[in-house]
Amino acid sequence: MSKLTRRKSMEYIKKDYVRTRTMPANWYLSSYNYKFNITHMQPLREKLKQKKIVGLQCSSCNRVFFPPRIVCGKCMVKPDRWVDLRETGRVATYTVAYIKDPETGEVQEKPIVCAQLDGSDTSYPTQLNPDIAFKDTYVGMPIKVHWAENPEGGLMDIEYYDAVEDNSKDIELRKD
Ligand SMILES: [Zn+2]
Repeated sequence: MSKLTRRKSMEYIKKDYVRTRTMPANWYLSSYNYKFNITHMQPLREKLKQKKIVGLQCSSCNRVFFPPRIVCGKCMVKPDRWVDLRETGRVATYTVAYIKDPETGEVQEKPIVCAQLDGSDTSYPTQLNPDIAFKDTYVGMPIKVHWAENPEGGLMDIEYYDAVEDNSKDIELRKD
């Protein structure tokens, strides 16, 4: 099917519906409970208990998702290949959060980062070691998983990420 015909077939055709009956009603959105299906994460959860990380790979485009996704948004197929990932990665992007201490009222500046593990094509929002200041955070910063003491098989087993020494040469100053 060409691009043109596909677009045509997807075009929305507006129909004139005959209004038959109306009745007053309310829709309380705030009282909804959302069910989040995590059964596709089961192999990852088992690995996390052993302090190991796996990502889910799409066998159509070979992209690796961490955290695992139910469907590959590009290929519209279920990723079904589990691949081992390293504990190391990089900061893909970051932002700052101003968090008020509930006791002292003091506002703290904390970096919130998107971490991309080595071997994965996606990143996810997480936290750095609380000792790392926002001003010391940067895109491409090498990081390493800091495990929780007793992993329970959830993403929270990765308590936060520690910074590791950056040995990349591209930021060295030129000595002319
Ligand atoms: Zn894909």
